[in-house]
Amino acid sequence: MIPRMSATSDLLDRSLSAVWHPCTQMKRHETLPLVAIARGEGAWLYDFDGNRYLDTVSSWWVNLFGHCNPRINAALTDQLGKLEHVMLAGFTHEPVVLLSERLRDLAPAGLGHCFYGSDGASATEIALKMSAHFWRNSGKTQKSQFISLQNSYHGETLGALSVTDVALFRDAYGGLIKQNATVPSPDSRAAAAGESAEDFALRCATALETHLQQHHASIAAFIVEPLVQGAAGMAMYHPVYLKRARELCTKYGVHLIADEIAVGMGRTGTLFACEQAAIRPDFLLLSKGITGGYLPLSIVMTTDDVYRAFYADETARGFLHSHSYTGNPLACRAALATLDIFARDDVLNANRDKAAFFNRISQPLREHPKVGNFRNTGMIWAFEVDTPHADFAQRCFSLGLQRELLLRPMGNTLYFMPPYIMSADEMQLLVTRTLDIIAALT
Ligand SMILES: *Cc1c(COP(=O)(O)O)cnc(C)c1O
Repeated sequence: MIPRMSATSDLLDRSLSAVWHPCTQMKRHETLPLVAIARGEGAWLYDFDGNRYLDTVSSWWVNLFGHCNPRINAALTDQLGKLEHVMLAGFTHEPVVLLSERLRDLAPAGLGHCFYGSDGASATEIALKMSAHFWRNSGKTQKSQFISLQNSYHGETLGALSVTDVALFRDAYGGLIKQNATVPSPDSRAAAAGESAEDFALRCATALETHLQQHHASIAAFIVEPLVQGAAGMAMYHPVYLKRARELCTKYGVHLIADEIAVGMGRTGTLFACEQAAIRPDFLLLSKGITGGYLPLSIVMTTDDVYRAFYADETARGFLHSHSYTGNPLACRAALATLDIFARDDVLNANRDKAAFFNRISQPLREHPKVGNFRNTGMIWAFEVDTPHADFAQRCFSLGLQRELLLRPMGNTLYFMPPYIMSADEMQLLVTRTLDIIAALT
């Protein structure tokens, strides 16, 4: 491929020499140019040559209300004039208090304590440590194992990798990772012929029960991505699984950790995915969309029951975990501005209409002979493409850029996880051009 000849080629070269990009085999960039983004507005990203790209993946699932959203910008500008940061040990500030109270009021009842981290993986670490430490403080030191679903993804630090079941991310680091068991995923694509998604979810819950029956004495917690396993290729499943998981975790004395880092903040149609199963987990993890995609922040919400097990005179019984930027005021303020938009614009209802509209106009994709398992939950769409190209994801990404789309398939699974402000015209453009790309690659 020919390198882009433009004012940015200097920036691209310097990036390749000085920046080690994430989730990237850097050698690929010998042939695949980086894209240098100069600015963003709404659902669009603009490069230095004035080309634009529709951000159909919300910049790795974080952006909710568009780039450079005027309301979030205004809140941050205001906060910058007041307080950029203060340590959260021994000190507090208004944004972190307001955010904790608002989340307590919005989340399933009983999750009244917010612990702060810096990103999704740190929220996973916090929840795993807090769960195991809870059992230790309760005199059950043998409860130190965790279980997760097959194909689970909970982040890529070492503790989070121990409950992540994506071989590519794990294999090189296997020797460093604690071995935890997985239980069958209720991913409805794996249902038997003629079996409903609900029946399959119940069958998988039976497997969970068998595992818990045998091993509950050594298990601290079961961690799940409610309703959609994102990194597994947007694997969607029936909410009855979560209902049963909640009952079984209670029955066997195991914590339920709901990792809503990707699926929280309205992504599945309700503010929190757990609401669709009417359950309250013992830990609820938030990150990604919580700041509208502006700043890194994560939150672990938990119960009085967990909180009380740490409340004592001895320091060592307290929860021992800290990050320098814990509860950063700017990030909390961005989160408050994001929650304001949800409330003022009645976003969840508006999204229901948007999703219905997109389902109508994407009919040609759903019915395309080379498209399989077309599925939708809330503001997430995904399908598999029957393609002869082993490097489909790479080709699709490149063809997408040529057609003003940022598409980032996982294998032959193409998905859309758009910002909620995507307009009807932008949705139509997305469908039309995706059909073009599929025609070129099948
Ligand atoms: C992205 C993600 C994480 C990790 O978050 P980071 O901020 O990337 O560390 C954890 N769990 C789920 C479900 C995610 O989608």
